[in-house]
Amino acid sequence: MERKSIIQMIEEIGVPLDEETLKVIRILEQKKMISETKLAEELGFKINSTRKLLYRLNNLNLATYEKKRDEKKKWWYVYFWGLDRERIEGLYFDRKKRDLDKRKLQIIEEEKYKFECKKCDMRFLHEDALEQNFTCPECGEMMTEITDSKIIKRLKQEINALGAEYSAYEERKRLEQEKEIKKRTIEEKKEEEAAERKKKREARKAKKLKPMPKKTIKKSSKKKK
Ligand SMILES: [Zn+2]
Repeated sequence: MERKSIIQMIEEIGVPLDEETLKVIRILEQKKMISETKLAEELGFKINSTRKLLYRLNNLNLATYEKKRDEKKKWWYVYFWGLDRERIEGLYFDRKKRDLDKRKLQIIEEEKYKFECKKCDMRFLHEDALEQNFTCPECGEMMTEITDSKIIKRLKQEINALGAEYSAYEERKRLEQEKEIKKRTIEEKKEEEAAERKKKREARKAKKLKPMPKKTIKKSSKKKK
């Protein structure tokens, strides 16, 4: 399945974005991280207005920054900004999940309507239809049973599409986590092995210096007695 672009996701999250903010996002989308000054340059905006837009994106949980010491001027920090892709994806899929649940409830509501009058475009619950003797109270026509509801059909299609998108996301997340766990296990093993080697090295070193510590131990134990 085609993955949505970050801009598409932000739009579908429902965050209202003005033209200037969109310009910032479009540049950030192309890069992993970019310094404030470089970004201001590319936008053709003043540094302060650029910062204002960036902090707004930060408040909306869409962008993050890192500060790094300047290579030449060590007392100086440079701020690098990037889109918080993981967070954006999280917000987007939270929204999708809510839409999915909402549609499932809508189907349950829709399925309560058992009869309709096609002429008046009205629908009736079973007990109401029974009470009306299956005759439309508006026009007097006979009601017909709802068998193939267009609304339910549409809802089911939407649920399928949302469900597929959501499970693809969950699967991707699961694989990423598995990879992360594997990576950590390997790292830990390497660290353990390194610690083991260090221990052995130190043990060998201690063996070579054996006579020295023996003497000192003897001395100190004598003194104590
Ligand atoms: Zn009618």
